[in-house]
Amino acid sequence: MVTQTVKGGLWMRFERVVIFLAPLLRRGARPAILALAALAVAAMTLGSLASDRARPADIRVTVEQLGDGALRITYDLKKRRRALLFGELATGHRARRWKVETPGFKLARLYDGDRISRTDGAKFDRIVIVASPDVIRIQKNYQPIARYGESGVMIYNGHFWPVTARGGRVNTVFSFIPASGAKAVAFGARTADRLTNWRSPLAHPAFVYMGPLEPVETREVMAVVDAAAPQWIIDEFYALTPRVFAHLAEALDFSLAVKPNLFLAAPLGREEGRLSYSGDALPAQFQITLEGGAWRAPSPKALGIFRRSTIHEAVHLWQAAARPGSDDVAGWIHEGAADAIAAETLVALGLWDREAYAADFDRARDECAGELRDGPLATAAARGRFRALYACGHVIAAAVSWAEGETVSDFWKGFIAAAKTSDGYDEGDFYDFVAKRSGDREFVAALRYFVRTPLANPEREVGRLLAAAGAPS
Ligand SMILES: [Zn+2]
Repeated sequence: MVTQTVKGGLWMRFERVVIFLAPLLRRGARPAILALAALAVAAMTLGSLASDRARPADIRVTVEQLGDGALRITYDLKKRRRALLFGELATGHRARRWKVETPGFKLARLYDGDRISRTDGAKFDRIVIVASPDVIRIQKNYQPIARYGESGVMIYNGHFWPVTARGGRVNTVFSFIPASGAKAVAFGARTADRLTNWRSPLAHPAFVYMGPLEPVETREVMAVVDAAAPQWIIDEFYALTPRVFAHLAEALDFSLAVKPNLFLAAPLGREEGRLSYSGDALPAQFQITLEGGAWRAPSPKALGIFRRSTIHEAVHLWQAAARPGSDDVAGWIHEGAADAIAAETLVALGLWDREAYAADFDRARDECAGELRDGPLATAAARGRFRALYACGHVIAAAVSWAEGETVSDFWKGFIAAAKTSDGYDEGDFYDFVAKRSGDREFVAALRYFVRTPLANPEREVGRLLAAAGAPS
């Protein structure tokens, strides 16, 4: 069994914006953003797996699409072994949603994953399971299987990809066999209706779609769009992405190496006043799920959320060129920057005026201060205060760029260029880059203090940080 050491990671995320429009609001509440995001990390670098490509796989995984979102998954092992290990997922998900078809096996939950072995402890070379989608959305992680449009399913293969005892990925190839009349789509690979002995071109877990939808290839993306999505959303998406991609390529000074996949699902449901946008980004892939009846007709609110969130996900595609080095890297670094660069992009494209930009920044600033009342940014994710990563990250992204008198996009152009040659950046690299760029050690000390210290008066400290950056007050 070939093992790889874990050298770097990449954020995984479940980000979500939910807004209830005025007609459904009760008790006179203001429209509330119930947003939730989480970070965890997949673990591998392009380099650590590149050598695997030349070697025959140790495990072949065949994924067959059954009805109702279920999958039959067969693991064929080149060499017999005693167990298959799987990485961390929502506690008990596999025990609840995976059924081992092959007799004589058991699934044991580990503190950081699951282990499947024979009940008699003997070695084996083949096992078949049937996996079903969860009935509730798994928080803080990708959905292993999600129903995607009529008769379609979206798979995140990382949750089905065996790991080594040291947390690397076993050298594995996947075959995806869709139901009759359906096709499998991942990246640009759709020359046949199925994918056979497939490895992600990015040597990283990926989304794979199986279903009847015909992918649409544009100059910028290979898109798989739910036929149930409202036409105005589809039109907006195809109008927006070329402009956003062109702008980001120029602002960040490089084009994407791989044409990305965009998956858009719209299980709108019946809640009329609801607008829910969830997005996930992977290297060269992002997926959007729209829920709530308020998406059916265009409205300024719906259009605003769609544009802003879609640009945020697009920024992640560029940020992926410089990966966080481990799962401990602070999410506010990339989440806040994605929000800040999205805001700059909206202005650059003429979709926001200066007032809209200023109002958005003020909102981030207020939200950040509110989020820091119970503890510092450094512990926000651990405390479940995920909005702090976005709002305070946005404030910091603006502050570090203003300290140098430049835009957030300018700052990130430099940061990506510096970080992509490394094995993956960490929080220290971020501070070092700020120090090098601004030449201002006092500002970096103020920034570290802001991130790490419990703040008695967060409003005042946000103001001080921005003043230290030389922001116009
Ligand atoms: Zn994000």
